[in-house]
Amino acid sequence: MKRKPELLPVRIYGDSILRQKAAPVDLEEPGLPDFLQDLVHTMYERDGVGLAAPQVGVGKRIFVIDPGWSDEEKHRQPRVIINPVIESSSGENVFEEGCISIPGIYARVIRPSTIRVSFTDPQGNRISEELTGYSAIVFQHEYDHLEGVLFTDRISALAKLKLKRRLKELEQTTVDGVNIRADIFRPDPHEL
Ligand code: ZN
Repeated sequence: MKRKPELLPVRIYGDSILRQKAAPVDLEEPGLPDFLQDLVHTMYERDGVGLAAPQVGVGKRIFVIDPGWSDEEKHRQPRVIINPVIESSSGENVFEEGCISIPGIYARVIRPSTIRVSFTDPQGNRISEELTGYSAIVFQHEYDHLEGVLFTDRISALAKLKLKRRLKELEQTTVDGVNIRADIFRPDPHEL
């Protein structure tokens, strides 16, 4: 019988796991296929184009992305990225980013426009490729989550000042290092 994927609770700004460096993944880990299925399911349910394991409370070097997805099921092309490395980067791109873990907040982030990456897929193949444009932005945003970095760390001092109060408000629901907000179910589209 086919397993039904579960919706995983998303950790919100203020949660300590969003600030921790995630650990390398062993593909033989029990439960990994189920977790990957749940991570992909949760990304789509939350209207995300990317979701990293720490965002659902799992400190592992895994994320899922689908930079090109639209609402129609048939256009979904999720990619599972395990133990990624950004080998090199060049150029510059400015894009207004958002994050499922920082609901309602958007700001312009400057990142390299072209990156060469390598990662392992769920079948265990090591893949190397070059990414540009939106795919490169999404990949870097999710990679940052594995390093405990949030896009709000990469914005200008002025933008940070403007968002200070709203970030504080998000942070205030943290209890003992954990911040899960059940009331925030549907963020705006295209958060990462
Ligand atoms: Zn994010």
